[in-house]
Amino acid sequence: MDLNSPIFDRIRVKREPRQAEPERAKVVCDHPGCDQPGAHRAPMGRLREGQYFCFCLDHVREYNANYNYFNGMDDGAVSRWMKEDTIGHRPTWAMGVNRAGKNFREDPAAFRDPFGMFGGRTPRPRAEDKPSPYGIAARKALTALGLDESADGPAIKARYKELVRRLHPDVNDGDRSGEDKLREIIRAYNYLRTAKLV
Ligand SMILES: [Zn+2]
Repeated sequence: MDLNSPIFDRIRVKREPRQAEPERAKVVCDHPGCDQPGAHRAPMGRLREGQYFCFCLDHVREYNANYNYFNGMDDGAVSRWMKEDTIGHRPTWAMGVNRAGKNFREDPAAFRDPFGMFGGRTPRPRAEDKPSPYGIAARKALTALGLDESADGPAIKARYKELVRRLHPDVNDGDRSGEDKLREIIRAYNYLRTAKLV
């Protein structure tokens, strides 16, 4: 409850807000010095939804004329409020942002991503954990790149780049003699990527 709000400076009332709907017949206008029946309810405003002042007709008109639900909020806050109003003022996940994946990436130990759905990779078993983590196809692919099973992802990538640079016709004055070898290397590298070894 914000009693320092401008709305309460301007609109003076006699006493504390009513919590429940009053018996109107017995209620006197909440405006100071007014003894008219307070037959007209006026909402207290934002953050006090469901609470009302009771005014006579004259004073409810005065109150309504000055009433600004968004008092004290700047334009940005008003538009945010209106947006939130459509979703019930509950916190929501930002749309279009994979917050779960992002959060998990910040704590990789808490999260495994076996299908690469969040753009991460499940850590590969290291050579010392498993004597031969690579299947036959992977070993053939490594051989095609001139590597053995000790090569890790970055080493495979570096080797691939080096071979492409060396064999590509564009960097060999159009010499196509390395093309078959290059094709084999690309195929091998693509396999290793598919197998998530790079
Ligand atoms: Zn009154």
